[in-house]
Order: sequence, then structure tokens, then C-alpha cells
Amino acid sequence: RAKEQGRGHWQFYASSMNAGTLERLGLESELRHALERGQFHLEYQPQLDLASGKVVGMEALLRWQHPQLGRIAPASFIGLAEEMGLIIPIGDWVLRTACAQARAWQLAGHGPLRLAVNLSARQFKQRNLLHAVAQALAETGLAAAHLELELTESMVMHDVEQATAIMANLKALGVQLSIDDFGTGYSSLAYLRHFPIDVLKIDKTFVSDITHDDDAAIVRAIISLAHSLRLKVIAEGVETPQQLAFLRQHGCDQMQGYLFSRPLTVSAFEALLHEGSMLAAA
Ligand code: C2E
Ligand code: MG
Ligand code: MG
Ligand code: MG
Repeated sequence: RAKEQGRGHWQFYASSMNAGTLERLGLESELRHALERGQFHLEYQPQLDLASGKVVGMEALLRWQHPQLGRIAPASFIGLAEEMGLIIPIGDWVLRTACAQARAWQLAGHGPLRLAVNLSARQFKQRNLLHAVAQALAETGLAAAHLELELTESMVMHDVEQATAIMANLKALGVQLSIDDFGTGYSSLAYLRHFPIDVLKIDKTFVSDITHDDDAAIVRAIISLAHSLRLKVIAEGVETPQQLAFLRQHGCDQMQGYLFSRPLTVSAFEALLHEGSMLAAA
């Protein structure tokens, strides 16, 4: 009888929820415990200077390795973590872990590599952000100038006045600011000019189609826009020698992408630093 009731119960829920909801509920409860269960780690993708060919920095990218579900891509859980408010503790963990790693690599003699960390919209608006960033720097001993925080167009364009104030506070700490996925969102050039940012990152969708006229024109325009605003420009998602040649030819400053390296585990990144691996000359 009890068993039947239990089954009836299950059926009730199952019929009133679609598979997506159930899957989502499962992911939600798993995500809630992922941090304390040590299921997150970071990978680091090298960023290279196009003129010198040298590794000048790295972007920290969050990885979730679940014991049963396997590896879950950030695109499948960052949004959920954001909705659940979990992105705040997760984001703090990312900041502290990445800053500690960057500092360790400096102390190991690998030069002043710049560390880029993605911020989510909710983190950006969080009251405690400034304190969290200052705390991560103080705890790890990483100089603020070596940390770059990646924002997106929607984050800074949503409420320009508030965003400008937050950016100014972050700049006062001494960190660098970049606009990630540039070109995919809506940016007002009038505002962009006044934002205290340092870097534009060209979104990989434009880079991947760089051999097509339209995208080539967009990439050239972003590079010259960045330079006329005295910003550095980084291309992401560089996968082919043709894309690299185009970016070099048009004066792009830095790049990251599978052509040189995928995001790497800590030990793989260290191996690359030890080898003194460089981008092939033009
Ligand atoms: P993003 O910040 O634009 O990061 C770049 C993404 O492009 C990464 O995907 C990276 O692995 C991928 N990528 C790099 N080079 C290439 C390439 O040559 N070809 C292709 N096809 N892809 C390339 P990933 O790691 O899956 O991250 C996806 C997004 O998730 C990130 O996009 C970022 O928006 C978000 N994310 C990742 N880590 C964090 C984090 O710690 N915090 C927050 N808030 N968001 C994060
Ligand atoms: Mg990014
Ligand atoms: Mg991003
Ligand atoms: Mg991006």
C-alpha cells in the first residue's frame, strides 16, 4: 500500500513537470553542494602578445567535474548559479583561487603574468564586490595591476550610471577592466568612451568567420575603435593560422585560442611556462 502511494506520488510529480524541469531540479541540488564538495577547479588559457609571441597572461575558466554527471560546461550552469545566487560564493572562490595561482606562478619566477577573471552580472552588482576583490588580492599578495576583471556589454550598459560608479571603484583598487565578448551585445559608443576600461575582447564568433568580408570588416573596426580609445584589444577563439595572420596584419595586440592552446590544468600550464612556449613568428 505504502509502496503504491509512493509510486502514485512520483507519478503525480512526473506528470506535472516536464523532463527539463526534473533535470534542472537535479542540477540545482547538485550545484548547491558542488563548492563544499570540492567539485570545482579552474583551467587557465594562455593569452599571447602578437608582437613578441610571448605568453603575457591567462584567463581563468571555471570547471565543474561531477562524480556521476561528468564534466559540466560553464554555459550549462553559470546561468543557473546566477539565478540561485550561488554565483556569489562560487565567484569569490574563483577570485581567490585564481589570484593565489597567479601569485604562485610569479613567485616561481614566471614574470608578471596578467590574470583575467570573468565576473557575472550578479557579482558585478553585489554590494560586497569591492571588498571581495580587495580581500582576494590582500590574502594572496597579488598586485592589483596584475588582475583584470572581465565584464560584458550587457552588464555595463544595463544601468550606465551605476555601472560607471562600480567600474570607477574597481579602477581605484588598481585592477584592469575589460569588456568580454565585445560586439555581441549592445554598446553605446558614447558611453564606451567614458567607461574606465582597459581592454576590449573581440568575441570569437567574429574571429571564426574572419575570412568573410563582413566579419573581417567588423574585426578591423573593433581593433581601430579600441586603439582610438587607447584600449588594448584581445582576440579570442583564434583557431587557424589564417585568423592569426589577419589579426597581426591589422594590429591586434593579443590573442587566445585553440591555435596556441586550449584552457589548461595547472600542471599543463606550468609545463608550457617551463618550455618557454611561444607563438610562431609572423
Ligand atoms: P568567455 O569568458 O568568453 O571565455 C572564453 C570561452 O571560449 C571559454 O569557454 C574557452 O574555453 C573558449 N575558447 C577559448 N579559445 C577557443 C577557441 O579557439 N575556439 C573555441 N571554439 N572556443 C574557445 P568555456 O570555458 O566553456 O566558458 C564559457 C563561458 O562561461 C565563458 O566565456 C564565460 O562567460 C563563462 N565562464 C567561465 N568561467 C567563468 C567564471 O569563473 N565566472 C563566470 N562568471 N563566468 C565564467
Ligand atoms: Mg572571458
Ligand atoms: Mg565572459
Ligand atoms: Mg569571451
